[in-house]
Amino acid sequence: MIPARSFKGKTVAVFGLARTGLGAVASLAAGGARVIAWDDSSAARDLGGQAGAEPTPWREWDWQQIAALVLSPGVPLTHPKPHEVVVHAKQAGVPVIGDVELFAREIRPDPAGKGLAPVIAITGTNGKSTTTALIGHVLKTCGFDVQVGGNIGKSVLELEQPGPKTVYVLEMSSFQIDLAPGLVPDIGVLSNLSPDHLDRHGTMENYAAIKERLMRQTAPQGQVVIGVDDDHSAAIFTRLSGAGGAAAVPVAVGKVLGRGVFVVDGALYDARNGRAAKVMEMAAAPRLPGAHNWQNAALAFGAVMPLVEDRAAIAAAIASFPGLAHRMEDVGARGKVRFINDSKATNADATARALAVWPDIFWIAGGKPKEGGIESLSAFFPHVRRAYLIGEAAGGFGRTLDGKVPYEVSATLDVALARAATDAANSPAPAPVVLLSPACASYDQFKDFEHRGDVFRALVAGLSGKTEAAQ
Ligand code: ADP
Repeated sequence: MIPARSFKGKTVAVFGLARTGLGAVASLAAGGARVIAWDDSSAARDLGGQAGAEPTPWREWDWQQIAALVLSPGVPLTHPKPHEVVVHAKQAGVPVIGDVELFAREIRPDPAGKGLAPVIAITGTNGKSTTTALIGHVLKTCGFDVQVGGNIGKSVLELEQPGPKTVYVLEMSSFQIDLAPGLVPDIGVLSNLSPDHLDRHGTMENYAAIKERLMRQTAPQGQVVIGVDDDHSAAIFTRLSGAGGAAAVPVAVGKVLGRGVFVVDGALYDARNGRAAKVMEMAAAPRLPGAHNWQNAALAFGAVMPLVEDRAAIAAAIASFPGLAHRMEDVGARGKVRFINDSKATNADATARALAVWPDIFWIAGGKPKEGGIESLSAFFPHVRRAYLIGEAAGGFGRTLDGKVPYEVSATLDVALARAATDAANSPAPAPVVLLSPACASYDQFKDFEHRGDVFRALVAGLSGKTEAAQ
């Protein structure tokens, strides 16, 4: 745990006592602050008390005494409208920050100076977790003490204190960036941008501006690595490369760059110095299938290069990446049918990546619908032999598929899997794939996307027939 000492002797209020809030309470208390805290759930308040806070209803807080409000990234800061606790804090002139801001003040006490350990911060709409985990894996393989956290795994303040070989690799959601104006990464990574979470950010422009802010906050002597395959990210790259701040490295898939890192014809090239050198064939990395994962690999390569320098070592480490659960995770086969758990695909853009990979897909989709639905996936419908629709989105998805893809409303995941497994086994396709890639949030039927993926994996394990392990 990293003690947050920047509020020693002062009172800090923590609102929201989930993972990051509890981490902040423990860290602030260890750093010598008095912590008052609130969460609507009494179980969460109990945990807050155990972590060192005084649970106090927020409406009873004396704002004159409070030096800062540490807000959970799950609580609305701006949209659809600020939570009342934010309004009160702002009226009282109390800064509203997140746990990442506390982390930043410890690791780089002088924002203009050098940090106690390098910080790599990764953001973007899709690919954040894969890129974060891959960067962590490569650096670990290359001998660093890697501390991975933020929006993945541990909260930032739960990570270990810096040592001589420490590198912090942090996945950052836009909500966390909004609450961490003082975070100065040494290396900033932006994977891509497409509409997501707009209920919480108002407009695409506002959402993109938050991601751009993290790139702009990156240390001027550092580096930003930006995927330039979508218009919003490309515009950010163009603005940053002329801004005189951190060096900007563009990353592309499917097109040769005069300068930057790119993947063409399934091979990764390093052209950061203007001369393209082949780094690896992406086929050597079986757990990074598909063009989207090549983007993640190219981003990771660009991000670690300043620390590792040895291209061959990085290539070997990318090749040995074990993959992440719930992201096109191969969970085994029955006869010729392979089962893929892509539960993390909570929007259409993420699902498009999976639908692009296989030619004969028995597709399980649906859940709590996102804005825009699945209209944008029509180019991939020829890959879908049949769709099995679940959750609240089933009706709407059915209307989009009507006349284009055969489908049925299975309603629940267990029914969908049983039907898809049977249809796939009886189909003439030589290598059919049963794919859970919902293009929806999970909250209508599951606790979260992990729960949904775990249920899928368990259902696959329970299918009768000859089993083969994942490849
Ligand atoms: P995030 O943490 O940003 O949600 P993940 O790495 O967890 O990203 O991947 C989430 C989903 O997005 C997965 O289902 C995957 O198929 C898809 N995906 C992963 N990387 C990319 C990418 N670079 N571009 C588009 N989609 C991606």
